[in-house]
Amino acid sequence: MATTKDTIREVLRGVHSPELAGSVADVLEWVSACDGFVSLKLHAPGLGDSDSRRRAAAAARDALGIALPEAGEPLRSLIVEFVDHAGTVIQTERLSPGKGAGGGGAEPAPKASTAPASPAAAPPGGGGHRPIGGLQEPTPNPMAGVRHVIAVGAGKGGVGKSTIAVSLAVGLARRGHAVGLLDGDIYGPSLPTMLGLDAMEQIVMAGMLQPHLVHGVKAITIGKLVDPDKPLIWRGPMAHGAFKQLVEQTAWGELDYLIVDLPPGTGDVCLTLAQTLQLTGAVIVCTPQKVAQDDAVRAARMFQQLRIEVLGVVENMSYFIGDDGREYDIFGRGGAEVMAQRLGLPFLGAVPINMALRANCDSGEPLKNFDPRQSGGGALSASLESLVTTLEGQVALATLRQGKSKPTLTIS
Ligand code: ADP
Repeated sequence: MATTKDTIREVLRGVHSPELAGSVADVLEWVSACDGFVSLKLHAPGLGDSDSRRRAAAAARDALGIALPEAGEPLRSLIVEFVDHAGTVIQTERLSPGKGAGGGGAEPAPKASTAPASPAAAPPGGGGHRPIGGLQEPTPNPMAGVRHVIAVGAGKGGVGKSTIAVSLAVGLARRGHAVGLLDGDIYGPSLPTMLGLDAMEQIVMAGMLQPHLVHGVKAITIGKLVDPDKPLIWRGPMAHGAFKQLVEQTAWGELDYLIVDLPPGTGDVCLTLAQTLQLTGAVIVCTPQKVAQDDAVRAARMFQQLRIEVLGVVENMSYFIGDDGREYDIFGRGGAEVMAQRLGLPFLGAVPINMALRANCDSGEPLKNFDPRQSGGGALSASLESLVTTLEGQVALATLRQGKSKPTLTIS
């Protein structure tokens, strides 16, 4: 049976542009498709200026917008990255499906940007860490096109930090944002399972790790670079070096948000993160119990000491909805919210204990958590949507506070 990727390749064979000798399929380097989120990487030297690249991307969108729904798949969004001979992204086109495309009916809204030509960012020494095989020192700064870096941390393990990081990433991507997800939990990477990456190969192109495009998100994890059955024992400097490599030697392209799933606790990686990246802020995940709160308070203090703004606290496993439809406060619902209030931190929302959430995470299908039919009723999806909305608001406020954007006033 033809896969969606085969269909996409086939459709692109029929897409031509005056500047290209052959079809768009001939310059296609890489295609990824998941639940209607399609991403293409094109190396097309013939398309010499941004207008011709924009036209080619729009033609691909128009053709896919008709052909994919006919083949039984919607087209929810299309990201076309144009790369040069070294694999560096020179232009990114983000397109919504056109009218009549059957993928949401949005107006064609091409959003283009040309990657800024940033100076080489030579990373400082990795402190005893050997480079991951096949990787070279990066030349252009791969973080130049990333607008917001958000770290997701927790005081202790097992509170659902990775689950929340994945949910935020997928939730933001569902709203049309370009999102990256970095598994910084180098001691216990969960992303290979939670995103269903097991069968995927880690690709290195021009010395840069190519993120996996899954569920509309660009994801990278150390779990795909090391033996999954061996325990990951990192000394401080090695952890520092491995994390820096993941961040700096991944071809992120253009992103609105990069979500970083941190290791639990307050260790070396958090310090590296603060030193390496310009963060918009951090999210702290906590369960309602007192013991979890105490650790979360320590995590909040650490972020504050590192001058990383805490965007808010998430109370995970807040309550449980039984078969009788009643809500049970197993761990003491509201505990994390009270803690957030006590510390003067924003509260981002509460997520219930939900069996479908656990099952969808284990099977690598996080998008199902946003569908009430596949997540045991509407409570989970509503709570996740509300979390994403609140985070978007907190990011906007933090951006204003940090002087990265100016308020706008529209009078009509
Ligand atoms: P951490 O990253 O904090 O170690 P994980 O996100 O890996 O925690 O979650 C630990 C386990 O708990 C996973 O099996 C996950 O599916 C499950 N889990 C997390 N949050 C919930 C929830 N709200 N309801 C049910 N299971 C959950």
